[in-house]
Amino acid sequence: MKIICIGRNYADHATELGNSIPTEPLFFLKPDSAILAHRHPFYLPDWSEEIHYEVELLVRISKLGKSIAPEFAHRYYDAISLGIDFTARDIQAEVKAKGHPWEKAKAFDGSAVISREWLPLDSNQKGLQNKHFRLERNGEVVQQGQSKDMLFDIDQLIAYVSKFMTLKLGDVIFTGTPSGVGPVKPGDNLEGFLEDRSMFRVPIR
Ligand code: ZN
Repeated sequence: MKIICIGRNYADHATELGNSIPTEPLFFLKPDSAILAHRHPFYLPDWSEEIHYEVELLVRISKLGKSIAPEFAHRYYDAISLGIDFTARDIQAEVKAKGHPWEKAKAFDGSAVISREWLPLDSNQKGLQNKHFRLERNGEVVQQGQSKDMLFDIDQLIAYVSKFMTLKLGDVIFTGTPSGVGPVKPGDNLEGFLEDRSMFRVPIR
């Protein structure tokens, strides 16, 4: 499986990092080795001084597809969930400045938190109804978002990404983070909620 991550899909997050609002989706990949094992802590790597959390709504691809038209995209995903796109912000700033790829900052081991639980979507329902989600650090809300604020909705993302690469059963899309991203330190505990349901807990070591 592959993990496709969308960058700058919420206007308030794009501007908080000093980026312009994109006119088309921006995406990058994480390998399956980036997935943090369930119930495992996240160990801060020794090569970065600034690991940030980014809470994101996840979509699971349910059918193989290529060049999917937006009006049919809802047939290609069947469940949503919640995760974290851990980002080495200091390394990302370095590679961005050099015009290099982002993988060192985004694709490292443990950088993809994917909830064990997936909430199935009603197959009769076209597209996704608005979903609220939030991230708490040590019991305090640090990020909250709702899917209707995405610059490009899930159907548009699937149509766009599938122009370039075939989507396969089990692929996961990280749909971008709202504002409020920030650093973690040893001893922190992160907990993500989708519509008030606890989806994951990640201790930072
Ligand atoms: Zn992200």
